[in-house]
Amino acid sequence: MNERLLKAIDDRRDDVVALTADLIRFPTINPPGEAYRPCAEYLSARLKKSGFETEFIRAEGTPGDTDRYPRVNVVARFDGRSPGACVHFNSHIDVVEAGDGWTVDPFAGVVRDGKVYGRGACDMKGGLAASVIAAEAFMEVFPDFPGAIEISGTVDEESGGFGGVAHLARLGYFSKPRVDHVIIPEPLNKDRICLGHRGVWWAEIETKGEIAHGSMPFLGDNAVRHMGAVLQAFEDELFPALDRKMTRMPVVPEGAKRSTMNINSIHGGQTEDFRPGLPSPNVPDSCRLTIDRRFLLEEDLDTVKGEVTGILDRLKRERKKFDYEIRDLMEVLPLMTERDAPVVKAVAQGIMAIFDREPDYVISPGTYDQKHIARIGHIYDCIAYGPGILDLAHRPDEWVGISDMVESAKVMAIGLNVLLRGTEAG
Ligand SMILES: [Zn+2]
Repeated sequence: MNERLLKAIDDRRDDVVALTADLIRFPTINPPGEAYRPCAEYLSARLKKSGFETEFIRAEGTPGDTDRYPRVNVVARFDGRSPGACVHFNSHIDVVEAGDGWTVDPFAGVVRDGKVYGRGACDMKGGLAASVIAAEAFMEVFPDFPGAIEISGTVDEESGGFGGVAHLARLGYFSKPRVDHVIIPEPLNKDRICLGHRGVWWAEIETKGEIAHGSMPFLGDNAVRHMGAVLQAFEDELFPALDRKMTRMPVVPEGAKRSTMNINSIHGGQTEDFRPGLPSPNVPDSCRLTIDRRFLLEEDLDTVKGEVTGILDRLKRERKKFDYEIRDLMEVLPLMTERDAPVVKAVAQGIMAIFDREPDYVISPGTYDQKHIARIGHIYDCIAYGPGILDLAHRPDEWVGISDMVESAKVMAIGLNVLLRGTEAG
């Protein structure tokens, strides 16, 4: 282990705290996408001071981008003395709304009892700050390193990443030969490596009916009753079948090792805001249901869809007047970086050096920006690794531990040493 490198990070303990607190003070709430530009400018100024070249990329025309709420991303790059690999740290700068239940100001960057509090402390401004000091310490200790280091602050991860990582990937920022290895410092706990995520299929199912007077429902055809038949079939057949599917992916928490489906919403018939009046008596001619199906590496998307459309088609044959439409809303394939991929092995060496134990390898139940880096950028040497306790994300009194940030910065710096200089120690 390189003592100088670790000392250079210990020396930056106050710095990582100040940087995290400063980042929290930009209320980068998404939606609507508040304070993106000043936050990106702050990060750029910080990295320029350490010798990075930075550029701003506004994702014009992507969802939510307006002059009031511009989708401003920042990409910083530092080229070493000689050619070599490029390691990219990608963090999202957007946060979800604070919500109720806070005992501290969520955007004040309060430091107390070895923790930094605030919305985004854990998800994921603490991880961003840890990656910045890891890079700066590495650059100071090994000024002659080959290759390059990039750090990006991107927007809109919480709303799908279309104005952030997806946009940058389309422009080539996440592609070879520019970038070889990507670390996303999401809060997955300091001794775990997240290899990827389950797949996602969102769809809207609509059953059709025929409008008629509610006093004579036999003259119409009730779309809500048809949807009831769909739900019954899901209960009887689909949910038990999904529950039997277990993956070899190390998904956490345990319950997410199975296939799951959530029903996000159901709407049928006339509007619900008839109050203070009364509803009128109608037979609903439409009922819409949105589903959120999370699937496993062992499943393919056609089969996943076929399980649902198979039930719908059977109802169409068996149930009088049953008809439906189905619309895809979102599709994301599952992802799992191999355990012997270079970035996995490098960060695992860091975890073993700092914590004297093998890392836990995990898969996230939900998706994050890795999907765009793989699908659009075709970079598969990518993981999520960062400080912060996953369960605290999006909750009141969110915090990140200062020692956790320092330790995970050490892991990241060792990872850089392995990936760029080919050694953990030297
Ligand atoms: Zn996050």
